[in-house]
Amino acid sequence: MSGVFSRDFAVSTPLVERAEGVWIHGADGRRYLDAMGSAGVIGIGHGRSEIYQALAAEGSKVSYVYTASFTHPWQEQLSASVLSVAPEGMSGVYFVSGGSEANETALKLARQYHVARGETGRHKMLARWQSYHGVTIATLSLSGRTSWRAPYDPYMLPVVHISPPYNYRCNICGEGGDCTDHCIEELERTILMEGPETISCFFAETIIGTTASGVTPGPDYYRRVREICDRYGILFICDEVLMGYGRTGRAFAIQDWGILPDMITCGKAIGSGYAPLGAVIVSEKITGFFREGKRRFVHGFTYSGHAMSCFVGQKVFEIMQREDLFSRPAVTGAYMHQRLGVLQQRHEVIGDLRGRGLYAGLEFVADRASRDPFPESANFTARLVAMMRERGVIVGGGVPGANFGKGGDHIQISPPFTISEGEIDRLIDTLDEVLTSLSQELR
Ligand code: PLP
Repeated sequence: MSGVFSRDFAVSTPLVERAEGVWIHGADGRRYLDAMGSAGVIGIGHGRSEIYQALAAEGSKVSYVYTASFTHPWQEQLSASVLSVAPEGMSGVYFVSGGSEANETALKLARQYHVARGETGRHKMLARWQSYHGVTIATLSLSGRTSWRAPYDPYMLPVVHISPPYNYRCNICGEGGDCTDHCIEELERTILMEGPETISCFFAETIIGTTASGVTPGPDYYRRVREICDRYGILFICDEVLMGYGRTGRAFAIQDWGILPDMITCGKAIGSGYAPLGAVIVSEKITGFFREGKRRFVHGFTYSGHAMSCFVGQKVFEIMQREDLFSRPAVTGAYMHQRLGVLQQRHEVIGDLRGRGLYAGLEFVADRASRDPFPESANFTARLVAMMRERGVIVGGGVPGANFGKGGDHIQISPPFTISEGEIDRLIDTLDEVLTSLSQELR
């Protein structure tokens, strides 16, 4: 016994010896295809020794400075790099150590922006059910992942949740509708009911990941969200901790909708697992307000803008640029989705296939026509994930309760951006084999 307080004492986690590319090698000699990119973190692939070599050569120049008192070259370089691929109109980057910290920072920045402008009544946050924004109390309050909120319910902050555009399970829009009309109407009605002058921001995962496995709004949704937020003076914040930084085949997923949010939060792929790193990318509307008023943002972690993390982030960025990894997921992702589409035709249990680029969500159903999920007792997702793992492929299990609290089975596929077509074939062939045997067992 090592004394590690495990994240889950019910499961045993194999000891890893090394990881390279899309492969994780266990100390027991087994190897695993990391088709979930280790929780969607790994963009540039595992085992890029050049990053740590560069860190050894140059990083010791500045290992740490307190960024309230000093800045350092790595933070300066990385902010310029991030802004060079961000939507036009973004002009500030605040670095933190991960996704929850990024979202916590964004919601505080939104609140302080309003307070500094004299709109002190704006304290409520709007977010969507079936979303996930982090584990801290504030970001969990934003999250609509009911099973994870439950133990902490008494601590939850005033967040008003509305429906996400989850068209596969929408009883209002009907077959083929993209849910935009009904969701936008609900957004505006909620704002009016709550009182527009009480609302600070609307938080949305551009494409919902973990909790709803790839729920993607229609082409007009974010333009209309932007319009409504502007009409009522509400800040619009895109959480791209999972979907940003290349995963969808764009630097940021929102670029497919062509609108400018007030902030974009990111994490995971920006550090690609080589260092803890997250960022809040801030529009000129807010950055300019703080800059021109010489205002101080009343916030800051000891490790905000950590030198070593920013150094690593800059090296990750250089690899992303050099190997075209901000756009390659569009190409390999198209291949992955095309192969998954064929799998969906072969396997009745795949009710819905969602996502974009190198992110795919599969929702499973007991009956395709009625879209009824499997009963919880079938333990479908857990069995599927375990069977994949036995065959050396790691996929992410979706979250029971995502289906409007009525159970449901999902998996997520979010491999490193460097995955080859051959490795995608290996993943899909294994999934094909597992679905065949699981469907037979359930018959
Ligand atoms: N936001 C989204 C969309 C996420 O997927 C996650 C993590 O999975 C987070 C926020 C929280 O990020 P972190 O675990 O780095 O705190």
